[in-house]
Amino acid sequence: MNKNQIVMIHGTDYVQMTVDLLEAIHLDEIIGAHSRRVALKPNLLHPDKAENGAVTHPELVEGVLRYLGEHHFSNVCVMEGAWVGARTSQAVEVSGVADICRKYQVPFLDLQKDSSYVCDACGMQLKLCSEVAKTDFLINLPVLKGHCQTRITCAMKNAKGVIPNSEKRRFHTLGLHKPIAHLNTVLPPQLVLVDNICGDLNFEEGGNPVVMNRIFACLDPVLCDAYVCECIGYSVDEVPYIPMAARLGAGNADTSGAELVMLNQPSGTLPNMRASRRIQKLEAYTDARDACSACYGSLIFALERLESAGEARGKYEKIRIGQGWKKENDGSGSEPEATGLDKWDGSGIGVGNCTHGCRKHLPGCPPKARDIVEFLKENWQ
Ligand code: SF4
Repeated sequence: MNKNQIVMIHGTDYVQMTVDLLEAIHLDEIIGAHSRRVALKPNLLHPDKAENGAVTHPELVEGVLRYLGEHHFSNVCVMEGAWVGARTSQAVEVSGVADICRKYQVPFLDLQKDSSYVCDACGMQLKLCSEVAKTDFLINLPVLKGHCQTRITCAMKNAKGVIPNSEKRRFHTLGLHKPIAHLNTVLPPQLVLVDNICGDLNFEEGGNPVVMNRIFACLDPVLCDAYVCECIGYSVDEVPYIPMAARLGAGNADTSGAELVMLNQPSGTLPNMRASRRIQKLEAYTDARDACSACYGSLIFALERLESAGEARGKYEKIRIGQGWKKENDGSGSEPEATGLDKWDGSGIGVGNCTHGCRKHLPGCPPKARDIVEFLKENWQ
């Protein structure tokens, strides 16, 4: 795997998906010597279950620990410091990560109880927890989420968990963006393994999970977050800490040269999950028939961007999405057979390759939210 790649897997068996993904990228070769100290850093900001969209799924932690055990890495720990106002010890128990650590006999380090040291982060003095200095390789396990202050939160902001509480408070007084960018210049080499299973629509603390059922890996946290912007409908310039970090040399914020490697294609239909009222409101704009969750989630993120900007007002057309809109083509050159006459009136607007029979459709399998926003701005009536 190289720094320009983003490697993605879809599905619902999250432990096995994690193992398969790590096998595919040969994580053992990336880490190097088996004596190296490897630390997993999930996002356990407060006591909650992953299904609510705020914290890392314990299945990802389990998949990584299983992989590292099978590849004979024994100097492994899991570490986290919850946000100010929550206790890490409680967050790790409620999330289920504590049970996984016990099962694999791997220590969990509560960074709220750790000492700290000061380091120079490209001209900014920052305090980091002492355990960071003892880490040779970091496996960053953020949740892909919207965020009410910084718009997105993923790889780079998850690093805030490795600083003491006093420093977290100071970051807020400094407006978050600048210290987050500087913090990401002094972390150990890392793999980012993004929990994109059901991260929240727009709040760090969850409550509006958007099911996408996918996990992806990246070696560059800046590129990762730049890609996340596209996944949930923002441009990179709308999230200042990303270009700032790139200017400081922490990574590459330009996704145009990035290579997306899909280990499999999205499949299946939406899970039977109770949507929040906010998401139900956005769903009212859609006509989904057998939509894959990755596709539908992208549309929901895009609709949130348009709704909050007032650009969904007065739109009457339902947006078609899903495999149920696919026009089957047997390759004979004859007119493809319609799977439902009501679908093939040549009208309507669609998102994703499956809706190619619509009056207008946005190609992609699945398309990114950023592209959906632009497409709907131009074509949605
Ligand atoms: S375009 Fe069709 S097959 Fe592809 S992700 Fe969307 S619904 Fe699934």
